[in-house]
Amino acid sequence: MGCKNVMVYVETAEGKPVNVGLEMLTAAKDIAEKVTAVVIGADAASAAATAISYGADAAITVDAAEYNTEAYAVIIEALAKKYAPEMVFVGGTTNGKDLGARVAAKLKAGCVTDVIGIKEADGKVVLTAPLYGGSIYSDAVVDGSVAVAIVRGGVFKKAEPEEGKQGEVTAETVEVAELKAKIVNAVQEISESVNLEEAEIIVAGGRGMGSAENFELVKELADLLGGVVGATRPAMEDGWVSRAHQVGQSGKIVAPKLYIAAGISGAIQHVSGMIGSDYIVAINKDEDASIFDVANVGIVGNAIDALKIMIEEVKKMKADE
Ligand SMILES: Cc1cc2nc3c(=O)[nH]c(=O)nc-3n(C[C@H](O)[C@H](O)[C@H](O)COP(=O)(O)OP(=O)(O)OC[C@H]3O[C@@H](n4cnc5c(N)ncnc54)[C@H](O)[C@@H]3O)c2cc1C
Repeated sequence: MGCKNVMVYVETAEGKPVNVGLEMLTAAKDIAEKVTAVVIGADAASAAATAISYGADAAITVDAAEYNTEAYAVIIEALAKKYAPEMVFVGGTTNGKDLGARVAAKLKAGCVTDVIGIKEADGKVVLTAPLYGGSIYSDAVVDGSVAVAIVRGGVFKKAEPEEGKQGEVTAETVEVAELKAKIVNAVQEISESVNLEEAEIIVAGGRGMGSAENFELVKELADLLGGVVGATRPAMEDGWVSRAHQVGQSGKIVAPKLYIAAGISGAIQHVSGMIGSDYIVAINKDEDASIFDVANVGIVGNAIDALKIMIEEVKKMKADE
């Protein structure tokens, strides 16, 4: 094993672990003798039990108020100093990116961000991260007694939960001194809520869809399949769909079971966001389009015609059910 003990910070939303928190447990188990989940918040005990069912050997809970980067960094720093893990994993969510970097600074630890690969080689843990928008990958081995990895969501697969799995849960108390910044009010942005990161089916359209009207076919197929609409940057820039649907380097990183890419060329900035999909179906009229390099099934032809046929077929299947 590359490590004796890995500490995984399992972020929660509304009291439940977010996917990347549970995904990291899978990665940690491959390299560590003991995986300890850290859950912070008001209802940490139930999320800790979930983390154990998804593979953590043990869990540490800390009762704390709502998320505050400064406070949570102090808590994780204290736990890392007390339990001395060789690695601390933090999920690459909006808060996690901020938190992980602060924890690393407090621990004076090396930190690798946007980690998409974790393996053991010659008794050391090797962390893989993309560079230059995913054009190349770098492998890093971090020196020192502790290292922090900020792990990209959707890359590792959650384990099947094991009902009733037992693991030691330790409740810790960490004193957090006066904070420099206090959150006085949290305002929820009024925007379309699109949960692309957790979607199992995504139907995505690119510039090749040609118009807002044609893009409706992407939306119709996504609806019929119970999936979510994805888009390339040009499709978003043309106003066919809101920014919340953009997949890629400057959009969202997704990992559905099925990704249907219609009229998408396969630029690296798009592919880097969807390459983690289990099964990719690409439709493009250009047989040399680079999207076919990453597709499991490629359809060379007009995406508008292909989507219309798919919609009809799905409707027929549903009518027969
Ligand atoms: C810093 C940076 C960040 C970026 N971030 C992102 C990002 O997050 N996400 C993203 O998507 N892009 C991003 N881009 C843009 C990216 O480089 C590409 O320009 C973009 O992904 C291309 O989108 P597209 O495939 O829709 O369009 P195009 O590259 O124009 O491809 C359209 C495709 O449709 C095909 N086509 C045309 N008509 C039809 C038809 N009727 N039927 C079937 N196929 C058809 C064509 O053959 C072509 O392959 C970024 C770029 C930069 C520089």
